[in-house]
Order: sequence, then C-alpha cells, then structure tokens
Amino acid sequence: MNKQYRTIEVKPGLYQIGSVLGPRYVYQYLLWDEHGAILIDAGMPNTPTEAILPFFKEIEFQPDDLLAILISHGDVDHFSGVSSLRNVCSRALIMAHEWDVPWIESVERIQRERYFAYESLGINHDEDTKQWFIDHLQSTDVHVHLKGGEKLKIGKDRVLEVIHVPGHSPGHLAIYDAKNRAMIVIDAVLHKGLYDMNGRIISPPPYYSIQPYIDSIDTILQRDFDVLLTGHFNILHNMEAYQFLHESRNFVNQVSSVVETVVRRSKQPLSLKEVLDQTDQQVGPYTSMAVELIGPVYAHLLELEKKRIINRTMKHTLPHWFA
Ligand SMILES: [Zn+2]
Repeated sequence: MNKQYRTIEVKPGLYQIGSVLGPRYVYQYLLWDEHGAILIDAGMPNTPTEAILPFFKEIEFQPDDLLAILISHGDVDHFSGVSSLRNVCSRALIMAHEWDVPWIESVERIQRERYFAYESLGINHDEDTKQWFIDHLQSTDVHVHLKGGEKLKIGKDRVLEVIHVPGHSPGHLAIYDAKNRAMIVIDAVLHKGLYDMNGRIISPPPYYSIQPYIDSIDTILQRDFDVLLTGHFNILHNMEAYQFLHESRNFVNQVSSVVETVVRRSKQPLSLKEVLDQTDQQVGPYTSMAVELIGPVYAHLLELEKKRIINRTMKHTLPHWFA
C-alpha cells in the first residue's frame, strides 16, 4: 500500500510531514533537538494515524519526547488532529495564540464566527461543504496561551521564536528557527491562492483583515532566512521565497482595485454575493471553495467604505455597495 504521507528533512532536525487533504497537501512540521521536540500542527482528525505517527516510527521518535504541539492557527485542517494525537503524546503541552484559542476550543464558536459567519450577509457554503466542516472539526483544550515573542528552547543552541502574524486569522503564529535559518509561516501568507498537487491554483487565499495581513508579510520579510515553510505550498528557497512574499503582497492590491472597479462600474448597488462573483471572475476564477474569497472581498469593501471611496445602502435585509 502506498504511504498516505511524504516527509522531507528540510534542515537538520527540521522535518516537513506532508499529508493529503482532497486535491492538495497539508504540511505539519517537527522540530527536534537534544531537549525534545515540538510539532507544529496536527492536520485533520485522521492525520495522526495516517501520517504523523507512522512518520515518528520511521525516524524512531518516541511520542513521549514531544514537548509541545503548537497550533499555528484556528483552522480545521491544522488543529483537528490534536485531540487524538494528545492521547499518544502524553507529555505534550498544547499551545496556540490566545486570540485563536476560543475557536480551537469550541466547534460551535468557530462555525459561528469563522466558517459560517457570512450567512447573515447572504453568503452560504453549499450543503456538502457545510456538512464537511461539521463532520471534521474536532476541538481541543489549549494549555498554553501565547502572544508572540515567546522563545522555546529545544537544544543547547536551538531556540525557536514565536512570531504573531495575523491576517489569515487573528492569532496566527509563525516559528523562526534561527539555527536553521528557517521561517515556518503556515497559512500566514497565501500567495494568489492554494494549489492542487499539480501546482494549479484552485482556491482563493482567505485573508480576513488587510493591514494586519500586509504587516505580517513585512514582519516575515524582515527576518533572515533561506527557507520558507508553509501549510500548503512547496518548500521555498531564497529568492523564490522572497518573490512569493512580494507576489502575495501585490495580490492584495490587485484584489482591492478589482473590488473597487466592480462597484464603480455597476449601475446599481451590488450585494456581497454579486461583488464576490464578479471579483472571482476577474482574479480567479477559482474552481474549488471559491466562496472563501469572501474574506478578502468583504475586508476590501469595508476598507473602501472607510476611505469613503464607496458607500453602503440596505436593500431588502442585505447590505449593498455603490460608488
Ligand atoms: Zn490551511
């Protein structure tokens, strides 16, 4: 039988564990040194048995040597595996940024405040997608609430730095492994969207607040690294990493101007759904989870409204925008 995962030792004591989720990869990372190890993210509910634990066995890593599972952010594909993995890794402390803890600890809250938050604005996931979230979300208690700036020492000269990089989620965290000149950013930067396994862009980059997202890209750019590690993209080295970061930044400006043009060109006020569909046609179109473009579209509408470039009116019970 084929392995359900693939692993790469990116640098000494820094492993990427790739697991499969639908049409794309999800990456977890193990950082291991003489004092023990830290795992970043645990994937979906089935990721521990299909990928993480077989990989531990392959490299002869004892689950009891796992000091912590650091959850990069509150998203189903990054924390739902923690609740089963923590039973096996009995010493591991569960860590996350304090702002994402409520979503990680409560399925009801993450559904209401994140995945199904736009229903009152007329945007719904299709029934299958909605059911998929309900079936796969697994909450877990978080022992250590982080703020960013903490340092985790896993070896004599191996200190990992926790960095707060919001935008994709309020409490998204990155890890800087200075000894390996590696920056692990998971979903803090999402380029022009997520790729399938053949490198084709299929779904949008869901960022939810613009300035924090751009500031996070700049925070990452200021660090010295020669490898950039993400939650869904291939390993990026040197110049390609910097190019990825700059293109991610430019994409935000592109979406902003498309949203503005869509509203300006319309003869009547547009609903969120209408702006979403027209923006998708111009910056995508995305073939999978196109509804996730709602994060950027809504954030840009609010921003343009704040700058008084566009205005809001109510039609029936839904907000509409016009220039
Ligand atoms: Zn993700």
